[in-house]
Amino acid sequence: MGKTYIVEHLDEELGQWSELEYITIARETGNFCLSSIPSTLVLPQELKNTPGFVAETRGVEEVYGQDPALKARVCLLDPAAKQELSPADGDLFDVFLFGGILGDDPPRDRTSELRKKGFTGRRLGPKQMTTDTAVRVTRIVAEQRIPLDDIPYLDFPELKFNEHESTQMPFRYVKRDDGKPIMPEGMIDLIRKDSDKAIDDLF
Ligand code: SAM
Repeated sequence: MGKTYIVEHLDEELGQWSELEYITIARETGNFCLSSIPSTLVLPQELKNTPGFVAETRGVEEVYGQDPALKARVCLLDPAAKQELSPADGDLFDVFLFGGILGDDPPRDRTSELRKKGFTGRRLGPKQMTTDTAVRVTRIVAEQRIPLDDIPYLDFPELKFNEHESTQMPFRYVKRDDGKPIMPEGMIDLIRKDSDKAIDDLF
């Protein structure tokens, strides 16, 4: 049976970084629901138009938390979970739930907001991943049945923009065949713009 991937919106707004991640998740999974969207939040048109994307104003607890049999089929990807996600979990769970939180360094454990709701948790290893990476790794393990430890990763890659400018990303990514991190289309340009802005703001 096809899996459903849910990101529960937890941030105040939905910025460009999240938009690029969510477009990528919808494209890669073909079955992506962004839940708990406030009625006041205007979703970016490109995200709404991406095939595989579904917008849901209800929270995940309202959709899956009421019926125990339904709730038991939901797995929360939780950096603080005791158990790692394994290929066998592909049989146990139909729905994989992620926190709609931008990565932060050091991590502030905002996934705890979902942990409190009592969904079964699984960890994807000890390092913080971007949300699209966490979804990608979950698909590889639960759908392709490849163990977590067999996935090629790239930790804290340095993105070099030119001879003088580079930035280090404080996250774990999946490594592409060419040795580069898998990232959403447009993300490197966005990171470059953000880092230029941060430098401008210093002056
Ligand atoms: N710093 C964040 C926090 O406060 O929890 C982590 C945010 S991470 C960018 C977004 C989501 O990806 C998390 O809520 C979690 O669902 C998933 N995630 C990222 N790294 C993970 C890991 N190592 N294990 C399990 N889930 C992870």
